[in-house]
Amino acid sequence: MDSYDVVIVGGGPAGYSAGIRGGRLGLKIALIEKESLGGVCLNRGCIPAKALLHLSHYLTELPSLKNRGIEVDIKNIEWERIRAWKNSIVKRLKRGIELLLTRNRVEFIRGEALSLDRGRVIVRVDGEEREIKAKDIILATGSKIKKISNIPYDDPNVYTLNEILETLPQPPSHLLIIGGGVSGIELAQIYSAFGSKVTVVELLPEILSNFPLPAVEILKKRLKKSNVEFFTSSKVKRVKRSEGKLKVSIEKEGSEIEVETDVIFVTSGVEPNLDLIKDRWDVAPPQEVKIIGDMAGGPMLAHKAYYQGVSTVELIAKKRETIPKRLIPSVIYTDPSIAYIGRIPKDKEEGLISGRFPYMALGKAISIDKKEGFVEVFFEPSTKRIVGGYIVGYLAEELISQLTLAIENKMIIDELKEIIYPHPTISEALGEAVKTVLKEAIHI
Ligand SMILES: Cc1cc2nc3c(=O)[nH]c(=O)nc-3n(C[C@H](O)[C@H](O)[C@H](O)COP(=O)(O)OP(=O)(O)OC[C@H]3O[C@@H](n4cnc5c(N)ncnc54)[C@H](O)[C@@H]3O)c2cc1C
Repeated sequence: MDSYDVVIVGGGPAGYSAGIRGGRLGLKIALIEKESLGGVCLNRGCIPAKALLHLSHYLTELPSLKNRGIEVDIKNIEWERIRAWKNSIVKRLKRGIELLLTRNRVEFIRGEALSLDRGRVIVRVDGEEREIKAKDIILATGSKIKKISNIPYDDPNVYTLNEILETLPQPPSHLLIIGGGVSGIELAQIYSAFGSKVTVVELLPEILSNFPLPAVEILKKRLKKSNVEFFTSSKVKRVKRSEGKLKVSIEKEGSEIEVETDVIFVTSGVEPNLDLIKDRWDVAPPQEVKIIGDMAGGPMLAHKAYYQGVSTVELIAKKRETIPKRLIPSVIYTDPSIAYIGRIPKDKEEGLISGRFPYMALGKAISIDKKEGFVEVFFEPSTKRIVGGYIVGYLAEELISQLTLAIENKMIIDELKEIIYPHPTISEALGEAVKTVLKEAIHI
């Protein structure tokens, strides 16, 4: 019987980061993965989505070059080559993870964990069951699709989140996306840039319901301009196949509307994959069994998974005593992108003071045609501490980390206003937003 310090189930961001860090700390580690290293994020999530968004941003920008004296003619789009390029990125990154695991002496077991108990995991490898012993077990089995009712999942033109970016269907004339969360909206931008008319159906009154509304409104306006229509407070009641099309009945505020589409992407309905521990322990798993990443619920994000992977194995190796609660940034990588962190008040009653600075007033933003968007920061009046902020506009996903750093370090307004930003950069908007609170901004 094989014996380890730690056995990790799941080779996604949570599991593989725990493996690499644990190996570096000198722990004897086995990592079990049943499908593909990199998990959802690398194979059918973050990375393919970002690669395709990158291409779609080019496509939407090219026509505007005409106004600057450069006319570009897009002659042909070869979907097969785009798919092959996306696959090559995934393959390259997967090879990188394999190398890092090997270099850090993590034993990679390609197999499926079937069951577990304190100190042991039963794995099926090449059809054979094997018992693996370990002092500690880290479970990082991610999430799974929770099928919603009224959807004909067996139709070849209906795709779940597990399939969309892995198979990457050719852009159809009309695509209907169920779910207006981050994945749904990123896909709406990708496919509309490649020429599909896109319909988004969202159950809640607004898409991206966790994101700051003023930012969402800017993005929504942009998407509407590129042939994306929205049905919010709406529900898919029926889908029928007829004359080569999918006829979708949408219920909105008591009435029914029928929309005809070629393809449906179902992006809503994801839940933690608790299969391995279902009915296993009455209360919570014992101390030696740790649950991390999407499996642990909370925001299902790769950066949260990485943090939990690394900090959990450090705890096991006694390199730290606790895992403090950290701020987790949220991002959508569309154009414009949106990122937020910390406290974003819904109304004035929360008593925070704020400063907003528009990209329109920024030299760099104007010089590179990225005038849309703004930065808004929030301070607690009594302490003068920064407590939250968001950015909608070019590079929001990069700028947000400066706000995270400031909030985590409890910085106050007088410290933040002293920071010198290089000119001309988009990051100047952060400094100006802070100074706006003090009525000291220069460019507004
Ligand atoms: C379209 C899309 C876009 C996304 N974009 C972003 C983004 O831009 N940024 C971001 O932060 N997050 C993004 N996410 C979310 C991100 O992919 C997840 O939060 C992240 O993958 C979670 O990592 P994880 O390791 O917890 O789980 P997973 O990545 O799901 O990995 C779990 C692994 O466990 C394996 N497994 C499960 N059961 C067993 C078993 N019994 N035995 C062996 N192996 C098992 C699975 O095969 C899988 O490889 C996106 C998701 C989607 C769907």
